[in-house]
Amino acid sequence: MDDDTPKRDDGTRQINHSDTDDVASTEDDSSSAASGGNTTSGEPVSGDAKSEEALDGEGSPTDENPATDDDEPVTAEDIDIRESIGPSGSTDGETDDDSSTDVSLDEVVLDDGGSDSRGLFDDLLSGEPIFENKEVLRPSYTPHELPHRTEQINQMATILVSALRGETPSNILIYGKTGTGKTASAKFVSQELESTSQKYDVPCEVEYINCEVTDTQYRVLAQLANKFIEKNFDVIENELDRLEDLRTRARDTPDLLADTSFDSLDGVEERIEQLETDCEEMETVPMTGWPTDRVYSTFFDAVDYNERVVVIMLDEIDKLVEKSGDDTLYNLSRMNSELSNSRISIMGISNDLKFTDFLDPRVKSSLGEEEIVFPPYDANQLRDILQHRADVAFKSGALTEDVIPLCAAFAAQEHGDARRALDLLRTAGELAERGQADTVEEAHVRQAQDKIELDRVVEVVRTLPTQSKIVLFAIILLEKNGVRNINTGEVFNIYKRLCEEIDADILTQRRVTDLISELDMLGIVNAVVVSKGRYGRTKEISLSVPIDETEAVLLSDSRLGDIENAQPFVQARFDN
Ligand code: ADP
Ligand code: MG
Repeated sequence: MDDDTPKRDDGTRQINHSDTDDVASTEDDSSSAASGGNTTSGEPVSGDAKSEEALDGEGSPTDENPATDDDEPVTAEDIDIRESIGPSGSTDGETDDDSSTDVSLDEVVLDDGGSDSRGLFDDLLSGEPIFENKEVLRPSYTPHELPHRTEQINQMATILVSALRGETPSNILIYGKTGTGKTASAKFVSQELESTSQKYDVPCEVEYINCEVTDTQYRVLAQLANKFIEKNFDVIENELDRLEDLRTRARDTPDLLADTSFDSLDGVEERIEQLETDCEEMETVPMTGWPTDRVYSTFFDAVDYNERVVVIMLDEIDKLVEKSGDDTLYNLSRMNSELSNSRISIMGISNDLKFTDFLDPRVKSSLGEEEIVFPPYDANQLRDILQHRADVAFKSGALTEDVIPLCAAFAAQEHGDARRALDLLRTAGELAERGQADTVEEAHVRQAQDKIELDRVVEVVRTLPTQSKIVLFAIILLEKNGVRNINTGEVFNIYKRLCEEIDADILTQRRVTDLISELDMLGIVNAVVVSKGRYGRTKEISLSVPIDETEAVLLSDSRLGDIENAQPFVQARFDN
């Protein structure tokens, strides 16, 4: 809270006259396209979800890959038969009239029997597809209804409705672990808020920022500034069009001005000039390079240019605070006292329940005027959520009855994470599809669980610091050479040799012991303290992750990849 804090003293506010054109990219609004969703009740997604999704801005999944998304198994020889079926033989993913086509095509395919010219994709295509619309299971898809979140959604709406009355809503802080539906609910509410504000023509806007991506004060303010500048340009342009038209007409018929706020043609002229000047003075913020106070005042002027209520949603706000402290929140939360035309309200969303502990008390009390908690889902709720999505995502009958309950049960153990539940269901479907199974079975879910767990391990190992990687590699080498009950001293010996080999700094044994404890906490190794009687206590270390995959990830690191033959080091251990 020192050098960067913008100083808002009107004398120093500067407006710039150059017209740089760098528009900073705004990465987060792609998925906020309004959709027609209007219900939060627990009703199943209806058959027209597909067409709704096409509006969703995520790209229309049914069009992406017509060949594989299609219902019918197709062989190369079928192509012209397909075409000859005519207009009813829909191949573009329409579902409504497919069933009749299905039958005739299947017959054709069967009749065709002895196909001797099968190409690369024929076998893959010939399995009955499991999915109807897989995109529905991806994290990027914003559902139009959110079972078991009605209460939280209503709480948000009750607070935010003031924005539609032109008042400033209280700031809101939303808490909950990952996968509890915070982002999905917040986006749903913001879409509803914006569409209602358009309906009643009240100036209310929502800006969504994902602070995991936009993680510094500069970037947050720059992104906000540029969004509002863009909006202001649009408003000015429309107004200029209107005034220029008025000017032209009023030249012939001066009486026209009687119905307007202008006394004379000169008044119109002046206003046009003013708007043109405003346009020239508005300068977008470059992605880097300006002092923070200039970015702040540019944002301030841009928001305050028009009368409006702005709700700023800061998703993953804990990441912003972790990375760059609470200056951004401090500055944003003080703005209202200085804005004259507009008002802002902040909605922070955090995965970390304790993140306010790190906030300045003033920020904490201002941001937490209202708090909404998203509790973890239990297995039954996850089952409902999955069922809703599965109805749209899978072909009917593609799931055996254990599949959804099992996915829900696994994800309930994973702190009630709906994201994990959906990942499991999608991955299980993909595994079934790859294995050319007719249905998704319990075994596919178990395989999916293993696969997701392995992916997690790979990611954790891949992003370890080099020193930890070397320690882990030492443990792997020992295990691969059949060493049991590995102790810290043994790890340290191999570790030292590896460091020498790749010219890395050698840490003390004390530090290496700490790194082993960290690996233990990450679930990569298991280190138990065992008593050696009068020889004291030692740690026995074993690997808790699949050895070959983990080794492969380590060796893909360019530094560790340089280790050509580690066998001699391990042998040396026995020679010591
Ligand atoms: P969070 O932001 O809390 O980490 P998300 O809102 O991103 O969680 O939700 C994770 C995934 O689960 C998303 O794909 C979301 O669409 C889905 N999801 C979460 N809650 C629900 C719900 N109640 N109904 C339907 N889908 C949900
Ligand atoms: Mg989220």
